Amino acid sequence: MSEQVRKTDHGVINTPAFLATATKGTIKTLTPQQVKEIGIQGACVNTYHLVTHPGADVIEKAGGIQKYSRLNIFTMSDSGGFQVFSLARNGPPRGPLAIPQKQLSSLSKTYQKKADVRGEEEPFVIKISEDGVKFRSIFDGTIIEFTPEKSMEFQKKIGADINIAFDECTYYPATHGYAEKAMKRTHEWLKRCINYNKSEIRNPKFETNSKRFENSNLKNSKIVSSFDIRASNLNRYLYGVIQGGTFEDLRKKSAEFVVSQDTPGVAIGGVSVGESKKEMRDQVRWVSDYLPSDRPVHLLGVGQIDDIIDLVKYGVDTFDCVEPTRLARMGTIYQIGKARYGAQVSSFSVQIEITKSLYKNNFEKVDVDCECYVCQNFTKSYLHHLFKQREILSYTLATFHNLWVMEKLFEGIRKAIGKDLI
Ligand SMILES: [Zn+2]
Repeated sequence: MSEQVRKTDHGVINTPAFLATATKGTIKTLTPQQVKEIGIQGACVNTYHLVTHPGADVIEKAGGIQKYSRLNIFTMSDSGGFQVFSLARNGPPRGPLAIPQKQLSSLSKTYQKKADVRGEEEPFVIKISEDGVKFRSIFDGTIIEFTPEKSMEFQKKIGADINIAFDECTYYPATHGYAEKAMKRTHEWLKRCINYNKSEIRNPKFETNSKRFENSNLKNSKIVSSFDIRASNLNRYLYGVIQGGTFEDLRKKSAEFVVSQDTPGVAIGGVSVGESKKEMRDQVRWVSDYLPSDRPVHLLGVGQIDDIIDLVKYGVDTFDCVEPTRLARMGTIYQIGKARYGAQVSSFSVQIEITKSLYKNNFEKVDVDCECYVCQNFTKSYLHHLFKQREILSYTLATFHNLWVMEKLFEGIRKAIGKDLI
């Protein structure tokens, strides 16, 4: 690829940054043009979902996920590990991502029958071994195998800018013994991922700018304030994943190991899997002193508004979270006045449920403090009406606004860091 082509407008990522969820190669309900207008810098696609449909080969044939989806922003693909393990333990996904119940129960019955014949206990059961994970697709029942090498191969074909090493996401609550076993397996798998990519994405680093938090009382108070993904001729970069469950000794051990590996970035995984908020924050705080200051750090699957500032202080540079977009589709509307960075950190999580009848006659902007397209044009009453009538536009408007609020929040944090206010 020529240098000119590589110099797209998503080359430099200003951090802290929020990556929107684009599970199946789309930020649900938004066109790439709308995403661009919001200013979101990146998106997180899901290897497991894209492998089940349309298949990694199809995306490769199309020239990679950027070309296929026209997202045209920085992209990260997760390893598929989280979905593989959560599916195995909790069954198929629920909520807006769920397969329609009717379709699911007929699938379940079909594969339950086949599973019964084979003497298996349930249809989605997986086998976890040192080599990898085998499981049955909830979509068509085919057996899919994820090993570190397979995950890398899938991610290579998908072609996102950042690839995440295959890891075992420990369930919650797990025993110390199991969390340790899963952590060791994750470390072994990271070595295999690095080995797979040896010639391609092991050594190159991003060009990064770091900044020190002078006002922070944390020992490690440095963060990466931006990184440039055009720093080399490579297309993809690999991040290792810190695991260790809710155990301080394991988290620290894992951080030490993962950071010592020569990967361009580091991710923290296995958090926000059912534990309390305090436990979630502790898991990041414990590893804070081990995180690199010359490489970006990504926190997998966390991005609730009221957590972000603390997590940034612990050294997290990029976040991805399904919450702003998923909540939007359920009618939960963020309120920017409360979300913008300021002194009132405790009031960050304010949001409204637009489906409540009190909004039927409310002709105020969707959010009085917001300058987004939605709030410039539509009232709470109208959005309430669209949701009550299940009009498709309701999802688009709510998603557009919630992501706008997230981006404004991060913009505010970046500015505050620039002025040494954090
Ligand atoms: Zn708005």
